[in-house]
Amino acid sequence: MERFFAFVGMVIVLLAVLAGVLLARTAMMPSRQVDPPPYTPVTFDAQRAAAHLAEAVRFKTLSHQDSAQFDPEPFEQFRAFLAERYPKAHAAMQREIVGGHSMLYTWPGGDPAAAPIILLAHYDVVPVEPGTEGDWAHPAFEGVIADGFVWGRGAIDFKCGVIAILEAVEALLAEGFQPRRTVHLAFGHDEEIGGLNGAARMAALLEERGVKAHFLLDEGAAVVEGVMPGIAGPVALVGLAEKGYLSLELVVEGKGGHSSTPPPQTNIGILATAVARLEKNQLRARLEGPVREMFAHAGPEMTFPMRLVMANMWLFQPLVKRQLTALPTTNAALRTTTATTIFQAGTKENVLPAHARAIVNFRILPGETADTVLEHARRVVNDSRVRIAPVNPDDINNPTPVARTDTPAYRALAMSLRQIYPDAIVAPALTLGGTDAKHYYGVAENIYRIQPMRFTQEDLHRIHGSNERLAIENLADGIRVYAQIIRNTAS
Ligand SMILES: [Zn+2]
Repeated sequence: MERFFAFVGMVIVLLAVLAGVLLARTAMMPSRQVDPPPYTPVTFDAQRAAAHLAEAVRFKTLSHQDSAQFDPEPFEQFRAFLAERYPKAHAAMQREIVGGHSMLYTWPGGDPAAAPIILLAHYDVVPVEPGTEGDWAHPAFEGVIADGFVWGRGAIDFKCGVIAILEAVEALLAEGFQPRRTVHLAFGHDEEIGGLNGAARMAALLEERGVKAHFLLDEGAAVVEGVMPGIAGPVALVGLAEKGYLSLELVVEGKGGHSSTPPPQTNIGILATAVARLEKNQLRARLEGPVREMFAHAGPEMTFPMRLVMANMWLFQPLVKRQLTALPTTNAALRTTTATTIFQAGTKENVLPAHARAIVNFRILPGETADTVLEHARRVVNDSRVRIAPVNPDDINNPTPVARTDTPAYRALAMSLRQIYPDAIVAPALTLGGTDAKHYYGVAENIYRIQPMRFTQEDLHRIHGSNERLAIENLADGIRVYAQIIRNTAS
């Protein structure tokens, strides 16, 4: 009995020590938020800006997968519209047309030796899915302003970026602002189909001219609410990197024949087994890089129980990982995802197909590459009857490098965001989709991704979907942020 009490006593002491360590680490976790100094917002007319965005929506600047469907006329008209609506900006900046329709602006800085800043947006949009036209409360290309919103395709993705940046420049010029650093605006025309004619060529041109940017900003994250456990208010997520992209084709070719005398395993069975192995043996979930940084920046601002967890990842990491991998969206931030998207074989019920084919799409986490994923797939499938190769070698993107958060540019960006959204915390993130920014690593090391506007989960479903719309007040805040970013980084 005595021994039992001694044992219980020891357990109590150990638990007390553990609790002490957990609490001490929680208390010592420093806030990483930048204190926003007071500022005077730029002066502009938000209603007029909204009217400009509504006008912008009316140009059918569509990107089609099939390039034969491309219609250049709306793109030309859009460019003329910008020059007309933003006279000061177009007088102060030089505009070059690159790759046919992309626009590269140069606003020369007073100090030619200072590294320039580059702000990205794109003005192409995806088509409305045929058959969904009737789902729109206001037609997608009419540019209707109603209930405090600008409605239409491109209102969020990403004509609002073009409009907000030019409104900010116009407003800054009106107040006599002259940048010290050169400011480049690069507005792509084919972001939705990969940016190879627009962003890639503008980036090549800048690289040719020897540009090494202070930083570059593109879309790829936003100010969001209700996505981070332990944080009730908004979080301004800044993407530090984007995932890579690889589609692998799995092919089984062999004898066909009559289904009355089948072999023990058919081509379909072989292929199905291969796909099942890939799904069962996913690439490892890792709490590293941008996601780790996200928790380091957001953790100190969380409610107590979550803060305790964040401060003690040495103990809770397996638990946190399990929670995060349980949901598709957070799972995608932790690992290279595996998604079988095409499976084809067979045409007749009594014939064994000689050919079976599947396509598996991978979104690659920073730290891995297309090569390591291909290697993983071959090892996991482990069947010489299955030929595995990239579908299209030209359509492979490795994950981008990861931008740093200990740079003056990141701090200035965080400060600008907190000046306009004082109730928000700023945290790094990983961008899950692709953006034009990936083409610019030759001209900028520090590439950050945020569309500086507030969105709900519901708003995000409207991107590339029906009823895309942007609140006028949200557009106005976006203009304020872009103006602050230019003031805080280029002056
Ligand atoms: Zn976009």
